[in-house]
Amino acid sequence: MGTARTQFADKSVPASSYVESIDPSTGESIARFESCAPGGVPAIFDRARAAQREWAARPIRERAAALRRVRDAIFDSRDEIAGIISRETGKPRVEAVFAEVILALDTADFLARRAPKWLRAERVPHHNIAVKTKSGWLEYEPLGIVAIISPWNYPFAIPMAQIIPAVAAGNAVVLKPSELTPWTGALIGEIAARAKLPENLVQIVQGGAEIGGALIDAAPGKVFFTGSVETGRKIAEACAAKLIPSVLELGGKDAMIVLADADLEIASSAAVWGSFMNCGQACLSVERVYVEQSIAARFTALCVVKTKKLRLGPPSDPDAEVGPMIRPRQLERVERQLQDAIARGAKILTGGDRRPELGANFFEPAVVTDVDRSMELMRDETFGPVLAIRPVASAAEAVAMANDSPFSLSASVWTRDTAAARKIASQLRAGSVMINDVASYYGISEAPHGGRGSSGWGRTHSRFGFLEMVHVKYVDIDHLPRIAKSWWYGYSAELAAAADRFVETLFAPNWKRRMAALRGSCGVVFRRDRI
Ligand code: NAD
Repeated sequence: MGTARTQFADKSVPASSYVESIDPSTGESIARFESCAPGGVPAIFDRARAAQREWAARPIRERAAALRRVRDAIFDSRDEIAGIISRETGKPRVEAVFAEVILALDTADFLARRAPKWLRAERVPHHNIAVKTKSGWLEYEPLGIVAIISPWNYPFAIPMAQIIPAVAAGNAVVLKPSELTPWTGALIGEIAARAKLPENLVQIVQGGAEIGGALIDAAPGKVFFTGSVETGRKIAEACAAKLIPSVLELGGKDAMIVLADADLEIASSAAVWGSFMNCGQACLSVERVYVEQSIAARFTALCVVKTKKLRLGPPSDPDAEVGPMIRPRQLERVERQLQDAIARGAKILTGGDRRPELGANFFEPAVVTDVDRSMELMRDETFGPVLAIRPVASAAEAVAMANDSPFSLSASVWTRDTAAARKIASQLRAGSVMINDVASYYGISEAPHGGRGSSGWGRTHSRFGFLEMVHVKYVDIDHLPRIAKSWWYGYSAELAAAADRFVETLFAPNWKRRMAALRGSCGVVFRRDRI
């Protein structure tokens, strides 16, 4: 399964034919993988098509059993998976387990139980008396080949949460992992093999943008893209040109609203974790904190104290809480945003410096105040360890500021007043809102994930994400097959009059009028003039 092969330090391979896994904490190459030539993609799709036909014909019980084998293979390989993810992304091992391994395990477990029910044909009762002589039902058909193009920041959880529903629904998958995390991508292929999924059902193609483009050129049934807004736009355009449907999971600028009655100890811990987990490189990172004026000073002070306590280090250090950023260009982006913010009056209360003595790409988590919307830091995705705090006069002002963004992925509200929190949640423009927690809904298999605007479209996770993996087909059966239908040819003035009465019988605003029209409408049913 999969096309990747580890080639440690094999310098004989030409640079254009491999992708390299680089340890972000040292900047050194740790593995190499053969990349796929764009010209090789059609053959990969041919193999996927053949595997998919055979797979879709299997009973759903068998496919659910395969999901349980995927779950067990992940469980058995959990140490190896967490180790490779940490090594390749720089994230602490604890985060690799909580946010990636557990999520994939639960997705497999959840869908092994739910997918058979969700794929069962479903009766569609007709409410309209005019069509009561028919029965309808829904069938859920696979899309064929699902192309998945993934980012590097959650290189296991994100593709697994798409591959598992895709195969459960009877599809084949071609996954292109990020070129920054090819090792985890290759491991996904190995997990599929360890779970004894049929050959070529889940294929991994390694490479960069050109291979992602080649997947779309090969016309899959659907494209699931997770990544930046900029690339998402290109994917959407490429898909539109071929009328290929897509799900786009793009960036975020998540707001956290802290009301005056919130538990500040807990809320400040959440803000620090929410901003700095995965070194701030999460689509669900807390990027803007709006805190009520009366508690802003205390809340900010707590955030500063807690940020200063964080231990920076590589994932090989089990006590390290914040790892390196993925690559120098990500650091440069964060520095650029901070410099722009400072030039416009922002203050850095702690952090914001590179820490080269710790290794490559280390950056001290920063707490920033005196921020406003004139700053790029408060408008564009930062995708780095910056906690930006802005006092607000009221909850209403916090909601207005939170909604003043092209992004709308997720948000959180912090208060002891559940009724107030629910009211605010319904006013927020976001795909999800957490009350008194951040980001963790992503690990709840029942919870849909996705945004709108610059955060993309479509959903992953949950039943809604599952339904993105199927065609919904409506089938209808007529129970009076020997009777020609009232609306067929043989039109006449008589039929037109009967049709008017029929409309009145069904939709007149009161029963008296409906009953009065009933007799006249019988001409629609008992027609002598059909051809
Ligand atoms: P990216 O857009 O640079 O790359 C994502 C993937 O797209 C990679 O596999 C890349 O090789 C591929 N790609 C790049 N150009 C392409 C092209 N022209 N055609 C086809 N494929 C192409 O994103 P990234 O840096 O890997 O990830 C970070 C971004 O992802 C952030 O903006 C983050 O918010 C977002 N993200 C969103 C979610 C979510 O669920 N909404 C989750 C994780 C990350």
